[in-house]
Amino acid sequence: MPRTPGPEADPKSQARRVVRALVKLYPTVVCALDHRDAFELLVATVLSAQCTDERVNRVTPALFARYPDPGRLAEADLAEVERLIYQTGFFRAKAKNLLGLAKVLVERHGGAVPADLDALTALPGVGRKTAHVVLGNAFAVASGVVVDTHVKRLAFRLGLTGRTDPEHVERELAAILPRKHWIDFSHRLIAHGRSTCGALRPRCDACPLRPLCPRSGLDEPASAPDAAEIGAITPRRGRRGRLS
Ligand code: SF4
Repeated sequence: MPRTPGPEADPKSQARRVVRALVKLYPTVVCALDHRDAFELLVATVLSAQCTDERVNRVTPALFARYPDPGRLAEADLAEVERLIYQTGFFRAKAKNLLGLAKVLVERHGGAVPADLDALTALPGVGRKTAHVVLGNAFAVASGVVVDTHVKRLAFRLGLTGRTDPEHVERELAAILPRKHWIDFSHRLIAHGRSTCGALRPRCDACPLRPLCPRSGLDEPASAPDAAEIGAITPRRGRRGRLS
């Protein structure tokens, strides 16, 4: 029976194996939040907190048509923004943060989104995850690994971390992954979480990663992988990853 690596396996070696397999499975990945520039991505990412990307993408066309840049959004009527983003949930806090961050962009950054982690995380409603999303996808700057609920869950199950708090997971992944993979690694894990490794019912028996996955945290034993499976990871069409 082929041995699957357990939590004791060298994390960097395990990370290399997982990256290789994910690149084959999901060769092309893109940000799932529709946007045309850094400002739109920043707004969409703020809206994606506790909301699906699909729902955000339904809301943002009208929002961006009405407020196409930080200057217009900074002058917006709060109640109107609340109405436009209502479907994304937590609309009052999100609307307040959007107006607040637009004002800071206008007053301190000349109406542009700064390509800087500290400047981004100083904006209202913008944490490290949102800043990494914007820097990675709008500026191609690998400032960190985006850790959302899918990334957190899969990194643990795949034996890449023994922790579940996002800040630790982010640090551990950054330590074991080559920086050139930081941006797309999150997209790929998210795609795999959506397609196969769901929170409640991971489909281990059908999972191409099964030969290298210790399935950490899952109680019931999955059926042992066939030896032939180890080389049977075949490319699939590019998947869109969720960023929140
Ligand atoms: S579906 Fe199962 S085998 Fe595949 S990555 Fe998730 S836990 Fe591992």
